[in-house]
Amino acid sequence: MKKTIFILSLIIALVLTSCTTENKPKYKLSDQAILVHNGTIINVKNGDVLKDKAILIDSGMIKSIGNYDALKSGVNVKHQFDATGKFIIPGLWDMHVHIEGEDLVEDNLALLPVFIAYGVTTVRDMASDLGEQVLAWRDDIEQDKILGPQLFTAGRKLEGINSIWKRDLEIANEEELAQMLDKLEYYNVDLVKITENTLPGPLFLKSVQEAKKRGFMVSGHIPIDLTIQEVVDEGFTSIEHASYLLRLGSDEQSIVEKLKSGEITKAQANELYTANFNQDIANRAYQKLGKTGIAITPTLIGGKQLAYLDEDNHENDAFSNYLTNRFTANYQWRIGRMANDTPEDKQARKDRYELIAKQLPYIQKAGIKILAGSDAAALNTYVYPAQSLHEELVLFQEAGLTPLQILQSATINGAELMGTLSTMATIEPEKQADLVILSSNPLLDIKATQDIYAVINDGEYFDRAELDAMLQIAKNRKIQLDKERD
Ligand SMILES: [Zn+2]
Repeated sequence: MKKTIFILSLIIALVLTSCTTENKPKYKLSDQAILVHNGTIINVKNGDVLKDKAILIDSGMIKSIGNYDALKSGVNVKHQFDATGKFIIPGLWDMHVHIEGEDLVEDNLALLPVFIAYGVTTVRDMASDLGEQVLAWRDDIEQDKILGPQLFTAGRKLEGINSIWKRDLEIANEEELAQMLDKLEYYNVDLVKITENTLPGPLFLKSVQEAKKRGFMVSGHIPIDLTIQEVVDEGFTSIEHASYLLRLGSDEQSIVEKLKSGEITKAQANELYTANFNQDIANRAYQKLGKTGIAITPTLIGGKQLAYLDEDNHENDAFSNYLTNRFTANYQWRIGRMANDTPEDKQARKDRYELIAKQLPYIQKAGIKILAGSDAAALNTYVYPAQSLHEELVLFQEAGLTPLQILQSATINGAELMGTLSTMATIEPEKQADLVILSSNPLLDIKATQDIYAVINDGEYFDRAELDAMLQIAKNRKIQLDKERD
């Protein structure tokens, strides 16, 4: 009995002690804690702004948002940054890049910090011939061994036999599909990517089903012998490239039937989709699609660069200072493929680009989640890593999306898709501290995302001079690599 009373009083004593410590902050600050004060904090969920507040960051996390005077104690004055007149947004997400080129390992490694310098703190790599290397970099970045954006990656993508892409996981039947999915599970990829260059519709559909069964997100292209609805019905996570949506402006079902019966060829089917495009039919299809939860990564900038190749001069693009000669040599592949284009072909390319871009406000209105993704890749001519995400955002604005919708496409929409919105992509306590501090207001003009004053990546503050130093290192590395390979 006495023992019980003793234990009881012990418990009471413990409760009392914990009560007296209640006024102390919930967190204990490290020497590395930083405080960013007086900036305008943008809530990307609803466009609200919060003025004259301070953001307390420590150990990679946002700890608190409140009054400067209340938060400054315990933070080294050297780690207090005045953001008066600045605008603070979450770090940007590029939801479609390819870190690629088996002979471009050093080149790609040198470009990883460039993403940070451009305010791109998260990237979704949509598979490449460097799959295993990208997976290793994903872990190295996570463990702070190298500086780069947080990576989500598909590793390698599923395709049919002899696809045009290098080092795909090529499958001919369900048995090979199972083997490749085993491999992707072993790799611990963040999603499965499937494309349609040589993969027939039925096996494509089976691949979606089997990947979903294993709990993967599945993103990719849409085969010409399947309807978009058939793929979406299997739980496809996101359609990559808005060009596929042009099919919805026609009677897609009947065109797919004609193709399958051999009445028309693939090329003819594609021509029909463009020639028959009807906006009202498309809008009705978008409404239906909007109810399924599917997302779309439009990747406008790649198509734009190719369509306007004859008008735009890229010779003096400043970004080429970061790209080795071996990297940009890949650009010739697509330029070569277009070398015999007639003036009519060129005009058709431009018309098609404009029609695709025009779809964005309709897609947004229908409730289809739009993901900002550049398709930056060595093989994608003039679609530069990091910079092209900002160009994509400007194209979204030109197409008629509002700056807030565009910010959402490059922050919360990506995080929601990847299932990490509870820990990333907004400026709130207990979220990962990835922030971009801008010198002008992105809610007025999205071009402000290019007006970068500072970047906070995983809780680490980089001022403009430090970002410029990162870029200088990348420039020097390019010169060095070019010289070594001469
Ligand atoms: Zn791509």
